[in-house]
Amino acid sequence: MNPFAYSRPADIDAALTQIAANGTGDAALASSAGPAPGPDLAPAVNPATPLAANQYEVRFVAGGTNLLDLMKEGVMVAPKLLDINRLPYDAIEETPDGGLLLGALARNADTAYHPLVKERYPLLADAILAGASPQLRNMASNGGNLLQRTRCYYFYDVATPCNKRTPGAGCSAIGGVTRQHAILGTSEHCIATHPSDMCVALAALEAVVHVQSARGKRQIPFAEFHRLPGDRPDIDTTLAADELITHIALPPAPQFAGHSAYLKLRERLSYAFALASVAAALDIADDGTIRAARIAIGGVAHKPWRIPQVEEMLEGQRPSDEVFGRVAEALLAGAVGRGSNDFKIPLARNAIVRALHVAARGTVTNWNVSIETNEGDLQ
Ligand SMILES: Cc1cc2nc3c(=O)[nH]c(=O)nc-3n(C[C@H](O)[C@H](O)[C@H](O)COP(=O)(O)OP(=O)(O)OC[C@H]3O[C@@H](n4cnc5c(N)ncnc54)[C@H](O)[C@@H]3O)c2cc1C
Ligand code: SF4
Repeated sequence: MNPFAYSRPADIDAALTQIAANGTGDAALASSAGPAPGPDLAPAVNPATPLAANQYEVRFVAGGTNLLDLMKEGVMVAPKLLDINRLPYDAIEETPDGGLLLGALARNADTAYHPLVKERYPLLADAILAGASPQLRNMASNGGNLLQRTRCYYFYDVATPCNKRTPGAGCSAIGGVTRQHAILGTSEHCIATHPSDMCVALAALEAVVHVQSARGKRQIPFAEFHRLPGDRPDIDTTLAADELITHIALPPAPQFAGHSAYLKLRERLSYAFALASVAAALDIADDGTIRAARIAIGGVAHKPWRIPQVEEMLEGQRPSDEVFGRVAEALLAGAVGRGSNDFKIPLARNAIVRALHVAARGTVTNWNVSIETNEGDLQ
């Protein structure tokens, strides 16, 4: 692990001032006792620009469950860490319109078990609880979850070329082992997937990411937060180099609370990343027809995959294999496997149909799971 300087700013202004020089290699490092930037660090850049993940010189650390692993493996370098755990963003608050504001520093476990999250957004609670382990969810923060990096094995193996780790090096996954890799939205430069479960639910719920820098505040719609790889797979998100995530806003969605499901398919029943996952939410009228739908899929692309026009295909329809099958085909249009991940195409198709059926029958959650309530779903 590279040596790094460490500080724990007491307030937002101190944190933003230190991060403002991110990527420029000047004030931030000059004010720290940290080492000189490594050879892969960027020359002066505009801090308002998203940076390749390896170009950050000052980096926030929250739970540390992803960043510290990557630093230990030598995948990421951070000459200076700013521990943000003293900042006042660990609350979960109601908004006047009936939505919720999730603090970026609220822990994943506290978020999933919060009574208002369980009541209003069971889809989100369920998705969070499908991820990692209880110990990890106790440490992991909401902001960090959004920014966790791919689990592509080549990305972690510094002995192999990887465009995400070292731009221009090549992609070892293309032509290599692709069991975990993407089938949608890939490029010739990267076929990695985004590993988060929480983000799949946030995409379906149309969350908005609130960010702040010394330049001001802005809000990023969830669909615009993560990027497809294109020719810059080293840049994961549209977050600028000097920006801190402060909150994640959930717009009111009471119409979906009674009919939602998060289905995660993985190599084993717990403690594994998704091969494919589906966040499905339906608004069902008294006569059984679908008024509105939200569907996002995970484990299949560089970001949670959602196509709002496909959701419109469900409006006015009744739940059926045929209707859900058409929706699945439309969501997966253009999906391409690369040998060892070909199986993901039928897997994702079946998962979409299954999750929509489960949602149509009524919300099933992990926290109140019982043989009685889930027996039908498991057949
Ligand atoms: C063994 C293991 C299994 C896992 N399984 C799953 C799984 O099945 N599903 C799943 O979804 N996840 C899984 N995870 C990932 C886990 O959810 C993430 O590691 C965690 O959410 C990251 O949060 P953190 O607070 O620890 O982030 P950190 O490691 O502290 O930070 C991650 C990144 O986010 C940046 N950052 C953090 N907070 C902010 C902020 N507020 N503003 C700006 N930048 C910020 C940091 O600079 C860093 O670049 C697993 C992790 C491990 C180690
Ligand atoms: S798929 Fe992306 S992360 Fe994996 S080796 Fe290729 S460039 Fe790197």
